[in-house]
Amino acid sequence: MASISRRGFLGAAAASAAAFVPGAAGALTEKAPRKWDETVEYLIVGTGFAGLASAIEAHTLGMKNVVVIEKMAFPGGNSVINGGAVAAAGTDMQEKAGIKDSADLLYRDILKAGGGIAHPDLARHIADESVENFYWLRDKIGVKFAAVTYHGGHSVKRSHSNTAHQGSGFIEPMLKVCEKYGIPIRMRTYLEALIEDEKGRVVGAKIREGYVFPKEKSGKVKYVRSKKGVMLACGGFAQNVKMRMSHDPRLTSAFGSTNHPGATGEGIQEAQFLGANTVHMDWIQLGPWTSPDEQGFGLCPLLTEPLVGYGPMVDPKTAKRFVMETGNRKVRADAIVAIGHPVVMYACEKNIMNQAVGKNLSEKMWAELQKSGVVHKFATLKELAAFYNIPYDALQAQNEKFNGYMKAMKDPDFNCKFFKDGVPNTEANGPFYGWRLWPRVHHCMGGLEINNKAQVLDARGNVIPGLYAAGEATGGVHGMVRLGTVAVADCMIFGRTAARTAKAYKPA
Ligand SMILES: Cc1cc2nc3c(=O)[nH]c(=O)nc-3n(C[C@H](O)[C@H](O)[C@H](O)COP(=O)(O)OP(=O)(O)OC[C@H]3O[C@@H](n4cnc5c(N)ncnc54)[C@H](O)[C@@H]3O)c2cc1C
Repeated sequence: MASISRRGFLGAAAASAAAFVPGAAGALTEKAPRKWDETVEYLIVGTGFAGLASAIEAHTLGMKNVVVIEKMAFPGGNSVINGGAVAAAGTDMQEKAGIKDSADLLYRDILKAGGGIAHPDLARHIADESVENFYWLRDKIGVKFAAVTYHGGHSVKRSHSNTAHQGSGFIEPMLKVCEKYGIPIRMRTYLEALIEDEKGRVVGAKIREGYVFPKEKSGKVKYVRSKKGVMLACGGFAQNVKMRMSHDPRLTSAFGSTNHPGATGEGIQEAQFLGANTVHMDWIQLGPWTSPDEQGFGLCPLLTEPLVGYGPMVDPKTAKRFVMETGNRKVRADAIVAIGHPVVMYACEKNIMNQAVGKNLSEKMWAELQKSGVVHKFATLKELAAFYNIPYDALQAQNEKFNGYMKAMKDPDFNCKFFKDGVPNTEANGPFYGWRLWPRVHHCMGGLEINNKAQVLDARGNVIPGLYAAGEATGGVHGMVRLGTVAVADCMIFGRTAARTAKAYKPA
């Protein structure tokens, strides 16, 4: 068996099953061409955080002929539409805000949210590099940061929000750096198959130039040899309903997604055809902060997240709170899904202005939320109750209780975390603002198994030479639950790590 290459083995096994693998039947038996169309030093698939970070690092390390391919017409994948905040534990920005933090505390938080199944060495790598990564973004890439905010499940405020309050605040400066370094970013170029040699080393890829998403056979086929191997930074599979349902059958098309349309996971499948192992594939995160009153990710998460611990979430049918508002995403999403209909969150203007507007979302976004009818303004709690059909007396009693818990900084009902700068949600601190919440499929914690050098492992735990992966295409980093803003750190840190590993790679 040892003499049979992974592709040979899987190719033979797949020959009879090829009809069951939509769009990839040909890819299963793809062979190295007699003649390559092009030779590069380091081929990266995907223009999100992981891909661009890897490209910039590779160039900085002196690698020549680094090429990034992207199947869509626009760069940035999930990264460019992301919430614009990155976790880092122990920065000068935190110190200025009087926040004590450390790599150890971030590491413990990741493992805790991960429910014991996060791979400790991967979590440790992120925790140890988070501060250096933050300074790299700010001082080398030119990202501008606005504030440090809180995200549910973290022990302290450590989410560093960029001034655009969007992933574009990271992606745009990264693209500029790529341009400055002359790193080609080839749009509408699709990775169709990975190619390994007779020794099982990944040596290149079959790609399609001029590809038009999602037409599988569009574009012109080209074979690219990559001397230092191929880096998969092709993101997750939240938009591939068939793939996500094979791991979690509950996630039917009835659930919308916050992801960009190209989050369809075929890069992960390509690596699987080569024998790559996957982990945690059934841990697919629902974002608890999306609104049924806007599409996709929208703006609502940017308002909701910094207000957990400042405003209550209630079931409109009963006016009762039902969950620890500062709990991690899974705790909250599961609780809302169990209720079975959208819930209502509200807060007074003072808390919103102190915690969210200008910090986690811009004035313009705040105005947009109101204009689009996602957020509504009410002079009194009674008006808010009437609008959302909430029994008023019960809501008033619940509101007073919550205000009392905030003051005492203790929640005997759900153990919600409170902060010293929270003010009671009263008419005096008003007006009130309310919005509805219903979860959407957000993040695939699972993906390709990697080691802490970003090398992809096969089903026996061995490194697949010349194959690297980082970001949402990988699994194991977060375990059961990904903490807010840790994905950005994950993508950047492992993307850069992959470049270092590739630079040192000498095919045996
Ligand atoms: C709306 C939203 C908000 C978020 N907010 C935050 C946040 O504030 N903080 C945080 O930490 N995390 C956040 N996340 C999660 C985080 O943004 C993602 O996990 C991260 O952006 C993934 O980056 P990536 O580089 O792995 O993949 P992506 O950014 O998705 O990039 C992958 C790219 O690969 C391309 N690709 C895929 N397959 C192929 C192929 N076969 N050939 C060629 N190209 C291919 C895709 O088109 C895509 O452009 C958010 C996610 C979403 C969706």
